Amino acid sequence: MPKTLTSPQFAATLLRWHAQAGRKGLPWQNLHDPYAIWVSEIMLQQTQVSTVLERYPQLMQRFPTVQALAAAPLDDVLAEWSGLGYYTRARNLHTCAQQIVQDYGGYFPEQLAQLENLAGVGRSTAGAIAAFAFKLRVPILDANVKRVLARLFGIDGNVQSKPVSDQLWQLAQNLLPSAAGDMPRYTQALMDFGATYCTARQPICLNNENSQAKKCPFASQCVAKKTQQVLDLPKKIPKAKSPELTCTMLIIQVQDHVLLQRRATNGIWGGLWSLPESSWQQQTADHLKQSQKIKKNMSAKQLLQMVFNSEQAADLLHELSGKPEQGLPLKHVFTHRVLRIQPWRISLTKVSLPHITDYAWCKIDQLDRLGLPQAIRIIFRNWNLIHGGDKVNESATH
Ligand code: SF4
Repeated sequence: MPKTLTSPQFAATLLRWHAQAGRKGLPWQNLHDPYAIWVSEIMLQQTQVSTVLERYPQLMQRFPTVQALAAAPLDDVLAEWSGLGYYTRARNLHTCAQQIVQDYGGYFPEQLAQLENLAGVGRSTAGAIAAFAFKLRVPILDANVKRVLARLFGIDGNVQSKPVSDQLWQLAQNLLPSAAGDMPRYTQALMDFGATYCTARQPICLNNENSQAKKCPFASQCVAKKTQQVLDLPKKIPKAKSPELTCTMLIIQVQDHVLLQRRATNGIWGGLWSLPESSWQQQTADHLKQSQKIKKNMSAKQLLQMVFNSEQAADLLHELSGKPEQGLPLKHVFTHRVLRIQPWRISLTKVSLPHITDYAWCKIDQLDRLGLPQAIRIIFRNWNLIHGGDKVNESATH
């Protein structure tokens, strides 16, 4: 710890800063209900604040209590989560609500260890719930807090590694205010400081334009600032190049219905409704050439055989109406891979469901209410089957 910055000073400075410059008016601030706090923390994990601002009130209105969330069908929870991405969070939200109801009588446990054992609740989220709802003197350590501490104390190791992570947790613990009553404000202040002042790309101490208006309260003690390493800390770990995959997806349409496939719960987009698709193939130079060649002249038979077995494809072909239509390709970027989707539309004369489990015909005007991955929602939107938004050929994560 820098000699000039002691624990009581850190907490006092941060609390003073928060009173003047902290974020105000976020709907999840100043809450004491652990359910409402927990939902906001899970939503904020991998979603931008502006999106959470829009979707959090809706979700809380739909599932106002942990009992309501636990009793809801998973489909309803996934539908409500639709477009927010990282759907494991939604499945865990549902599982965790059921744990709270079944194992804890509908009340969140007040012990940190029990909170950490809930589905989808990591150590930092457990810390946030405990600090906000129960005023426990326990730290949080999300990505923003790691960045603040690494800069402030000049920690230049890999923050993902166990030794550095242990060091940061210890630091976070040591810095806590001595009065438990300060924990909610302190925790919120730490979050706000990382999100608005000590940001990843434009920390306030490097922003000359604002130097008169806003000043970092730790500028004279911050090791990264003093050693001119602000943007070098925390150390960036080079990312491996994401593999690129390709697949074909089919919109099989009969008048006002389309055929959807329920995805397996334990994979990507687990439990969501998606389009019938070919297997995802690694994109090699040869494959790219081949797929560009065949892209333009695909017959309905070829397309159906890429997705279904020969018996199912034959059944569907029997009802074929017209030629397949090629849609706008979509590049979808996941955290660790890129998927290039080529959609096609095949129209049939009547609904045919040839011995396929996990498939269902869905009315087009009901699509918006289903739990669909963002990429599938965009494909439908590009085809004007879901309204709203411009046509796009790129989407991200989820
Ligand atoms: S001086 Fe800069 S790097 Fe250091 S804590 Fe303040 S904003 Fe962050």
